[in-house]
Amino acid sequence: MILSKKHELIKRNFRRFAETEFTTEIQEELDRNGGFNWDIWHKIGKYGFTGVKIPVEYGGQGGDYLSYALMNEEFCRVCPVLGIYANTPNSLGGGPLLQCGNEEQKQKYLAPAARGEKQIVFALTEPGAGSDPGSMTTKAVADGDYFILNGRKCFISGAPVADYAIVYARTDLTQKGGRGISMFIVDMKLEGVSCGKPELKMGINGYPTSDIVFENVRVHKDDLLGPLHKGYGVAMKTLDGGRLGVAAQAVGAAQGAFEEAVAYAKGRKQFGKPIYYNQGVSFMLAEMATEIEAARNLVYAAAEAKDNDAANAATLCSMAKLYATEMANKVCGQAIQLHGGYGYIKDYKVERLYRDVRVMTLYEGTSQVQKIVISRDILK
Ligand SMILES: Cc1cc2nc3c(=O)[nH]c(=O)nc-3n(C[C@H](O)[C@H](O)[C@H](O)COP(=O)(O)OP(=O)(O)OC[C@H]3O[C@@H](n4cnc5c(N)ncnc54)[C@H](O)[C@@H]3O)c2cc1C
Repeated sequence: MILSKKHELIKRNFRRFAETEFTTEIQEELDRNGGFNWDIWHKIGKYGFTGVKIPVEYGGQGGDYLSYALMNEEFCRVCPVLGIYANTPNSLGGGPLLQCGNEEQKQKYLAPAARGEKQIVFALTEPGAGSDPGSMTTKAVADGDYFILNGRKCFISGAPVADYAIVYARTDLTQKGGRGISMFIVDMKLEGVSCGKPELKMGINGYPTSDIVFENVRVHKDDLLGPLHKGYGVAMKTLDGGRLGVAAQAVGAAQGAFEEAVAYAKGRKQFGKPIYYNQGVSFMLAEMATEIEAARNLVYAAAEAKDNDAANAATLCSMAKLYATEMANKVCGQAIQLHGGYGYIKDYKVERLYRDVRVMTLYEGTSQVQKIVISRDILK
């Protein structure tokens, strides 16, 4: 797919920001020490990246899905952590509010998130309910003007720094699976809400992930998001868009690793000549470039389908996530191979990219879950 002049320009702007602001020093410091870089967070808010895909009337830039994909791609080419910072409010955090928040909820919660003033996270997964979120046990029981929330969510990206969480809980205890689940906007400062210790992760260090525990938390009924018992479908629709974002992140990270591999193959000499003189090396680079380009085209096609509300948009998003994230794992591994022993050393960017992309075939639905979604569609 050939990008329009407008999208080319948008892509260049994302690249310039990432290369200028998310320096190697910042990347390495976050990877080493974890935590969260508030300075970068405020900058991406100031530039409007936290609201790229959110309508202007709710504090965003009103961009399309293709622009959102380009942002994820270009930010992750430099560092996946930057992509994840900007992705969350546009995707899992803001998505449910955009889909079914009332006007008051959108102004109160979505607009500050789009402007980067507040952070909203998405709390679906539980210790016993990952690929099968319909088996969740977190529950919310009506009590006058409130719901009493009890349960535990796990692996919640951004939880330790969040102001609000979109929490999924069973409200009809007689129902099973996806039925009888509702969504709530939960203020993380409410009594009874607590976060676990940030997980020690293989990669994407610098964006903390933790459990959230709810013990008799009183959530006002005004913070019920969307119709009662109808939250599950919204979660699934939110994940379609999120999967497009992860697919674009994978393309960007693979592109970053590929560029490192090309530069290294040109500079590194063995047997008296640059290693790329060997077809064993140049053919590997040719295959990497081809697979990245194939994934990129699939991502752009899925974005176009989302922008046009096409009937196959959800399937294309799953296909893009499946293909691009598996490709990125392979390409980042090949980039290490081409660096020889140096690729195993932390001084080389490919070592970090290899660890950062590993999660992409896992979160927002594993590769196996994407195959369930795709096969359901083609076999219906
Ligand atoms: C760093 C990180 C950040 C995350 N952020 C968030 C977040 O912000 N919000 C949130 O709600 N969740 C988040 N998650 C959770 C993530 O979405 C889940 O980890 C993921 O959906 C898989 O669930 P699970 O880990 O319980 O694995 P399981 O569901 O237990 O799966 C284990 C293995 O079994 C396979 N499997 C399971 N069922 C089937 C099947 N029917 N057919 C074939 N294979 C199957 C899976 O593919 C996988 O390989 C995050 C996870 C990580 C690691």
